[in-house]
Amino acid sequence: MKIEDLYLAFLKSTGVSTDTRKIEKDNIFFALKGPNFNANDFAAQALETGASMVVIDEERVIPQEDSRYFLVDDVLLALQKLANYHRRQLTIPIIGLTGSNGKTTSKELLHAVLKQKFRTSATVGNLNNHIGVPLTLLAIPKDTEIAIIEMGANKQGDIKELCDIAEPTHGFITNIGKAHLEGMGGPEGVLKTKTELFQHLREKKGVVFINSQDPILSNMAKRFENPVLYPAKGDFCEVEFLGADPFVKFRVEGDEQVHLSSLIGAYNFGNIATALTLGKYFGIPMHLAVKAIEAYRPSNMRSQLVEKRSNLIILDAYNANPSSMEVAIDTFGKMSGKKHKMVILGDMYELGDATEAEHAKLGELVGQYNFEKICFTGKYIEAALKKAPFRSLYFPDPFSFRNWLQDSKLEDYMILIKGSRGMKLEGLVDFI
Ligand code: ATP
Ligand code: MG
Repeated sequence: MKIEDLYLAFLKSTGVSTDTRKIEKDNIFFALKGPNFNANDFAAQALETGASMVVIDEERVIPQEDSRYFLVDDVLLALQKLANYHRRQLTIPIIGLTGSNGKTTSKELLHAVLKQKFRTSATVGNLNNHIGVPLTLLAIPKDTEIAIIEMGANKQGDIKELCDIAEPTHGFITNIGKAHLEGMGGPEGVLKTKTELFQHLREKKGVVFINSQDPILSNMAKRFENPVLYPAKGDFCEVEFLGADPFVKFRVEGDEQVHLSSLIGAYNFGNIATALTLGKYFGIPMHLAVKAIEAYRPSNMRSQLVEKRSNLIILDAYNANPSSMEVAIDTFGKMSGKKHKMVILGDMYELGDATEAEHAKLGELVGQYNFEKICFTGKYIEAALKKAPFRSLYFPDPFSFRNWLQDSKLEDYMILIKGSRGMKLEGLVDFI
């Protein structure tokens, strides 16, 4: 395969697609393989649906004399190589970011800030893996001035692989906590995986932004000649945390205090400070950056606020792991505004050997607050009952839980809903 040939075809196309259901006219279709599918079999269908070309790795699907089939050794590798080739045509700052929690939120906030002055391109939604990052890169328009690339990891080496494809020039790590423990080989593995981004930036003499208030991250600052530090006094960008009750309050560079009306929880402060720091670094006037943060509304079940009659739901059903559970419960514990409080917690996935212990800890944790109602639902979370307050309820199946919720006719409640993506806890909102 000559990557140049593929690139020429890419330039003439309207973009790439890996999903036959979403092909747009004159897309190039990449026939990826998954555990349960082989898209080589859909190549002809992709052409019928409007694709101008299909990239395949099984010769058997090519009919006679059809120049629209581009045969490669490995479709995924071809997609990644093409993405890297495209990236190398761009001479703009590429900001790479990873971390255990808060990646998408930080990315969205930073995007909102940088948009104030630059044509900015950022990862759409959560396309942050070995397929999503190439797709993100290939979707960067030619006239883009800055790009932001979210990088996720399931195992060691993932971030290095994504850095080799995206070649970020700037980067930050949101935090290093307990997520995807299973594939990464425990907390040490998580640390190693996330720091692959820093390693890349050090080798390429890129710029790192480091939250000096995070003990693990600030320790890493020592390895860099000129890290851009924030948000403590004396750092490049000073952002002072003034509380979260539940909405975040802060002050930038000694200026007036800013009281947000949409982002809750102390944990969001780091995400905000990061966005403001990078904004300052790239020359966005601070008042515009603050305005952009104020206007940001979380969506997609990331600490999203949903009102239901007299109840206020904090829908955090996008994902969950021990560290994000801990901060979410703590934030919720400190919130006020309604007469009653209830937590609905679901399973945390991908914890491997730590599954039972981490769920049991949740039981203990919720007992430290005055929640009137505590509900657990899922398979693993049964372990929480061992240490949870006696009044806690457990629903192994969603149907009985929904019925119970509906019958409860909750009024004047503040309700936290949090669990891993696979639990689809957002479905419960309809029954409140
Ligand atoms: P994913 O691994 O699914 O891509 P992510 O890292 O992109 O997740 P977000 O989607 O931004 O994370 O946030 C998911 C949830 O994590 C939030 O709803 C919130 O509960 C929690 N969270 C957000 N920011 C932080 C943070 N800085 N520290 C700890 N928890 C956070
Ligand atoms: Mg994300």
